Amino acid sequence: MGRRITPPSENNEVWLPRAPARRGCHHKKLASASGDCILLSVIYFDHNATAPVIREARDAWLDATETVTGNPSSPHRIGERANAALREAREKLAAFLGCHPTDIIWTSGATEANNTVMHHFARTLDAKAEVWVSAIEHPCVHESAKHYFGKRAKFIPVTHDGVIDLDWLTAELADTRPGLVGVMAANNETGVIQPWREILAICRQYKVPFFSDAVQWLGKMPAKELGECDFLSGAAHKFGGPRGIGFLKAPGKSHVTPLLVGGKQEQGRRAGTENVATIISMLAALEVREKQIVRGEHVLRGVWRENFERQLLHKLPGATVVGAKSPRLWNTVSALMPEGVQLRWLSRLDKAGFAVSTGSACTTGKEEPSHVLAAMGFKAAEAHRVLRFSSGWETSEADWDALADSLAKVHAELHHARA
Ligand code: PLP
Repeated sequence: MGRRITPPSENNEVWLPRAPARRGCHHKKLASASGDCILLSVIYFDHNATAPVIREARDAWLDATETVTGNPSSPHRIGERANAALREAREKLAAFLGCHPTDIIWTSGATEANNTVMHHFARTLDAKAEVWVSAIEHPCVHESAKHYFGKRAKFIPVTHDGVIDLDWLTAELADTRPGLVGVMAANNETGVIQPWREILAICRQYKVPFFSDAVQWLGKMPAKELGECDFLSGAAHKFGGPRGIGFLKAPGKSHVTPLLVGGKQEQGRRAGTENVATIISMLAALEVREKQIVRGEHVLRGVWRENFERQLLHKLPGATVVGAKSPRLWNTVSALMPEGVQLRWLSRLDKAGFAVSTGSACTTGKEEPSHVLAAMGFKAAEAHRVLRFSSGWETSEADWDALADSLAKVHAELHHARA
């Protein structure tokens, strides 16, 4: 029997396999009863990659796993109970988003939802139609647009501050009508918020369907109104729900060409037995987040982020904040460090007890320059000096302060090593 584990969301501690622990590491070590884990005291600043599962989501999952045991498609009372739980979850999500419950399709996450959108349009648009997506989309939009549309995928430029170029979009739309426009609600690397409401209005004017990847927005900003987008995706693990579950919002009345074929689940739009307990858990997490947002708890966290940025600029002369002039998520700071490549920073900060990220995709161990930063006009050498700090709801002001202090220390070490 393993020890009962306190969720990391409450105390910044994470369980890791014993193997990666290095000698000389100052982290607190506690052997689990089975002896195969250590408890690390880490301040986690990588919530945009994935966030710890919160207690409410874990409890909801355990409860539903034990009590909702049937297959929602089964023709008996146990099945009907699972189906009713699924219906309730669908209604809750639709109410949060402001759309109709039949618009919701459960998926394994946002990657599947976003691929479904591209696949659907590739199957239904005429052979010459283009799709336009922003140049800063997550790879699961960017790459799937290229995969399904090749040269017919066009990338909407962004400004140096990481916001989509609305002038470009309106001028181009006056000339050409793409089959779909896709712009994310907020960027995962920079936290820059995109003017999705304005883009939606422009798309309505030109009668072009609008799709938004709302993965980084959901659970941090109010969900209401997102449901007005024609297509919308989300993933639970970015806001305290479990990994491996998400959704696609698509117009319920229209046909969606399924990416996965087989059974007739999800009104024939996504085959496969629905993971009811995980879906319920996702909604439990979203409910917690929406309440925090209604109480305005994110506003204070935005102030902490701004204070951190001021400290960063003061303590590390030459550092800059990426997208500084744009509205950004309250939890994300993308910073161009004055010197030292990303991996050096990452390993030193890791040793100092901070989990941070580069924010860019890592291919076979080699850091590729971020396509997001490239689209914003950063040179490859600059992109290699960018770090991403993404806090969560449980991150305190003191955690931000400790990070600023640690960055100053690492900066001094790196500078000393070069001198
Ligand atoms: N879209 C954005 C903006 C993301 O940040 C991510 C994950 O990092 C995804 C899509 C993919 O989500 P998932 O890995 O849950 O499929």
